[in-house]
Amino acid sequence: MEIEGGSDSKPILDLHSLDDNLVQKMVYDALVWSSLHGLVVGDRNVQRSGTVPGIGMVHAPFALLPTVFPENQWNLACEVAPIFNELVDRVSLDGKFLQESLSRTKKVDAFTSRLLDIHSKMLEINKKEEIRLGLHRSDYMLDEKTKLLLQIELNTISTSFPGLGSVVSELHRSLLKNYGEHLGCDVNRTPSNDAANRFSEALAKAWIEYNNPKAVIMVVVQPEERNMYDQHWLSFNLKERHNVTMIRKTMAEIDKEGEIQPDGTLLVGGHAIAIIYFRAGYAPTDYPSEAEWRGRLLMEHSSAIKCPSISYHLTGTKKIQQELAKPNVLEKFIDNKEDIAKLRKCFAGLWSLDDADIVDTAIEKPHLFVMKPQREGGGNNIYGDDVREALLRLRKDGKEQNAAYILMQRIFPTDSATFLVRDGNCHKDHAVSELGIYGAYLRNKDKVIVNERSGYLMRTKVSSSNEGGVAAGFAVLDSIYLT
Ligand code: ADP
Ligand code: MG
Repeated sequence: MEIEGGSDSKPILDLHSLDDNLVQKMVYDALVWSSLHGLVVGDRNVQRSGTVPGIGMVHAPFALLPTVFPENQWNLACEVAPIFNELVDRVSLDGKFLQESLSRTKKVDAFTSRLLDIHSKMLEINKKEEIRLGLHRSDYMLDEKTKLLLQIELNTISTSFPGLGSVVSELHRSLLKNYGEHLGCDVNRTPSNDAANRFSEALAKAWIEYNNPKAVIMVVVQPEERNMYDQHWLSFNLKERHNVTMIRKTMAEIDKEGEIQPDGTLLVGGHAIAIIYFRAGYAPTDYPSEAEWRGRLLMEHSSAIKCPSISYHLTGTKKIQQELAKPNVLEKFIDNKEDIAKLRKCFAGLWSLDDADIVDTAIEKPHLFVMKPQREGGGNNIYGDDVREALLRLRKDGKEQNAAYILMQRIFPTDSATFLVRDGNCHKDHAVSELGIYGAYLRNKDKVIVNERSGYLMRTKVSSSNEGGVAAGFAVLDSIYLT
């Protein structure tokens, strides 16, 4: 198959024709490249690998070659990124909309309820976040039948892999360069990926807006983090390119060491904090005791820039995604009709469980739906026959519990043969992919300082797996080959 533009390079489609020796050679080179370029995660077999950098590193799971993706769909995903950034900002300012939309979820979901409590407290004291920083990722799957690029979710907290995602694109570009002749591919068809640079730059610009040269950026981390190198790519970039320091603290440490000065400045371990960048705090397991909740509340009270603020965090919940997909809701937040149409085009079917007709349909054809609780981080959704069972159980248990879930149209992406490399082993399997587009947004009062698309992340998983998380062990890091 010829690609547009008339070059004789071919998309990487026919993996079956690849000679086994060539594949083995590429795998070997890719493993060496990963080790030399920091495409690494902590090895779960090594005890200290989640706490001490440099101990027990293993290459991050990756696809040996980038996955073919249509250029027009890629352009579409890139085009809507700044619109989604703006949408998050607008929605976050509507405290009433957030509280009301989540009011029934609050009754049945203890975690969401605690987040809403913090949000209510901020509304009560009329807390204003004048400088607002969002580092988002909007995830999509390309539905095979309809050829529509449909949004899976919009992540507003702890969006992972801006670091390693950038590196894996470079790995692929390196392989395409070195093996291009054998593969018949054009390296320029894999866009280079500047997610790590763009995110660091947005953080640096926010740091400048905060305007305290002594202040540092604090990443909120889990006590054990095997994905620490992804985060270190940002702190390294910040230091090297912008001379800004990033420190790492857990929620419990923030509770213990944190205090707020009379002018609102957050001090943690003696450091003034300009920006709180959350890479933890999105899941109930991040709050094992009251200390972590105290830490979260303390941060929210401070004048530090929160990435995300509690209202940005809530805007990224699945319930809000479903509310925004209802007719005439986007119109409350966005004026431009064309922008609204572009966003709406990538919304999949989303329903509340109060919709009795859709629940009937889902009980009848559960494989056409995904049922989602208000959780982040992978591994929480319900698929297939379990959807039917869960819905029947909820019917018996009464209406209240309905609010803990949303229903979503199941998207069926095309599957294709892929070489997945994990733990130094390569195996070929049928796989499907999810494209994430990063977006950065920075605003100081009325001035929008950054509103951009900031690189991408492709994740590929074996077709037989429902879930998609890389850290959760379902998927591999990937990049794209435009056709
Ligand atoms: P999380 O916050 O846990 O990441 P997601 O909504 O992203 O929640 O769902 C997790 C994974 O489940 C996705 O990465 C994707 O692989 C799969 N998934 C989610 N929604 C759908 C859908 N509507 N159709 C098909 N797969 C889906
Ligand atoms: Mg997700």
